[in-house]
Amino acid sequence: MMPFSSEATRFDRVIVFDLDDTLYLERDYVLSGLGAVGRWARNALGIDGLGEMMRARFEAGFRTHIFDESLKEMGLTPSPTLIARMLGTYRQHRPDIRLAPDADHFLAARDERTGFAVITDGFLDAQRRKIRALGLYGRGIHLGICTDRWGRECWKPNPRAFEHVEQLFGCSGASLTYVADNPSKDFTAPRERGWRTVQIARPERIHHFASHEGVKADRFIETLEEL
Ligand SMILES: [Mg+2]
Repeated sequence: MMPFSSEATRFDRVIVFDLDDTLYLERDYVLSGLGAVGRWARNALGIDGLGEMMRARFEAGFRTHIFDESLKEMGLTPSPTLIARMLGTYRQHRPDIRLAPDADHFLAARDERTGFAVITDGFLDAQRRKIRALGLYGRGIHLGICTDRWGRECWKPNPRAFEHVEQLFGCSGASLTYVADNPSKDFTAPRERGWRTVQIARPERIHHFASHEGVKADRFIETLEEL
């Protein structure tokens, strides 16, 4: 990819976003994925109602073992092969997700002197499909980095993706801002590099973090309207 630091495209500042629970609600992705697994189970295995069962468990607050427990509840055996196929379907489904309204407004109101990027962890296939489903490149995001492209060890807090953004945009330090939701891993690398950091805590987020957890951001917001 061409760097964005030539004279013609030099930005005064760069705003970098995390993806899940920062630009859209991760719960929408989970519900979309569980629905896709349910459709697969009906078509491929003739099992009815699994999707509804899994979504109900998630809505009830369960966050782990949703596949296994839902299968058991329906009197089915959660064999490793079956679970692996469900997981594959989940990660490779085409997600039905959209930008949070405030994220949509924020990007629509962008100015040309600001560069925009995304740095996201998670399985490469799944994250790429999310970026595509949200249409980020058509909405002003210049660069999307899935850290998984370099392997699991380069997920945050590894600084590699942050260095990559600095190089491509030709920016450093306080001209860069990282907006993200997870203090246990998101702010370590950008803080060490002198970036500004903003924690967004959407009221409908999946993961809640105790205030003493991880590395704090400079600012705390609940919606991008505050940025
Ligand atoms: Mg996140």
